[in-house]
Amino acid sequence: EKEYLMLPGPTPVPPRVLRALSEPLINHRGPSFKKLIEDVTEGIRYVYQTKHDVLILPASGTGGMEASIVNFLSPGDKVLALSIGAFGDRYATIAKNYGCIVDKVDFEWGTAIDLDVVKAQLDADVNQEYKAILVTHNETSTGVCNDLEGLGNIRGDHPALLLVDSVSGLGVMDVRPDEWGLDVVVTAAQKGFMIPPGLAFISVSPKAWEAYAESKAPKFYWDLGSAKKFLEKGQTPVTPALPQYTGLREALKIFQEKGMDYMFAKQLYLRDMTRAAVKALGLKPLAEDAISSAAVTAVWAPDGIEAKAINKKMREEYNVVLAGGQKQLENKIFRIGHLGYVQHLDILATIGALEMCLQELGYPVVLGQGTKAVQEVIMSRK
Ligand code: PMP
Repeated sequence: EKEYLMLPGPTPVPPRVLRALSEPLINHRGPSFKKLIEDVTEGIRYVYQTKHDVLILPASGTGGMEASIVNFLSPGDKVLALSIGAFGDRYATIAKNYGCIVDKVDFEWGTAIDLDVVKAQLDADVNQEYKAILVTHNETSTGVCNDLEGLGNIRGDHPALLLVDSVSGLGVMDVRPDEWGLDVVVTAAQKGFMIPPGLAFISVSPKAWEAYAESKAPKFYWDLGSAKKFLEKGQTPVTPALPQYTGLREALKIFQEKGMDYMFAKQLYLRDMTRAAVKALGLKPLAEDAISSAAVTAVWAPDGIEAKAINKKMREEYNVVLAGGQKQLENKIFRIGHLGYVQHLDILATIGALEMCLQELGYPVVLGQGTKAVQEVIMSRK
C-alpha cells in the first residue's frame, strides 16, 4: 500500500533518484568517480548559492555538525550557542563535549532567536573572546526558522565564526552563505536534497579555513583539510557511499532544471496550505507565521487529545506518517513534514486523513473544513 511519508526527513525520494541510487558501483579512485564528485560538488554549490568550498562527508547531519566543531575550534575556546529547540541543544552539547566553553542562550521552544538578546550578548563580550556563534537555521523540533541574514548583520565585525546547522533548511529555504557572512553551513542528504540519509554537506568560508589552520581539536575522519586535498584529485579520503553519489547527481539535476527560485517558492506554497488547513480546523501551529518553517509545521494537539493518538491513527488507518514532538514537546505536538519530494496533493491527502482521525478522536470537525483551505490556496496560486 502506498505510504505517505510526511516526516521532516527522511523524505520521499523521487522515482528517477531511486533509479539512480541503483547504478552499478565504480572505482572510487578512477576517472568516472572524479567526474561524479566534481559534478555533485558543483551541484551542491548551486543549491547552497555559494562560491565557498563545499565538502561531502560520509555522515548523517549530526556528523556534519560535529565536523563544524572539530575543524574550526579548539578545546577551551569560548562559543556562544543559540538554542530554540532540540537541535540547538544538540549543537551546544557537541561543542561542550569537545571541550569548548559554551555560553548557551535558550529561547522558548516555538519562538525564534531574539536578535536584540544576541546583540547584547555580543556587546558584553568586550574582549571579543567568542570564537564562534552556533545557530540552528531551521529548528525541526518546533518548525521555527531563524533569521540568518539578521544574525549575520548583528555579528557585524565581531571575529566569531558563524556556524550554522541548516540540516533541514538548506535547499528548502533561501540561504545565502556568502552574502550573509555564514562561515560554515552544514546540511544532510535526507531532507531538502531528497536522497536517503548518509551524506552530510558542509560549506567553508575563507575565514573558516583560517580558523581551521589554528584548530587544535583532534580530528581524523572529519578532517576537512584532508577532504579538500582529496577533492582536488577528484577523490575522497575514505571509500565513498557510491550509490548516494549517483542518487545525489540525479537529485541535483532536479534543482538545476527547476531553479532555486522555483524550489523555494514551492516550499512556501506547501507551508502556506498546511498552515491554512490547520488553522481552518481550529488547531494552533506552534510557530507564528513570520517565523514559520517551509520544511515542517508543528501543531499543538487539541485539548484532551494526545498527539501520539493522532499520529497512531494516521499511520494505522491511512498510512500517513507524521512526526511527533521531541523532549519537552513529546505527546503535545504533531509535526507535518512538507519538504523534499512532497507535492500539493500530498498535503490535501494528509489534511483529509487528519480531519477523519480528529473526528474519530472526538474533536469537533466538519469534514472538508481543512481540505477546503488547502484547495483554496491551490486555486489562488494557479
Ligand atoms: N539538525 C537538524 C535541524 C535536524 O533536523 C536534524 C535531523 N532531524 C539533525 C540536526 C540531525 O541530523 P541526523 O539525524 O541526520 O544526524
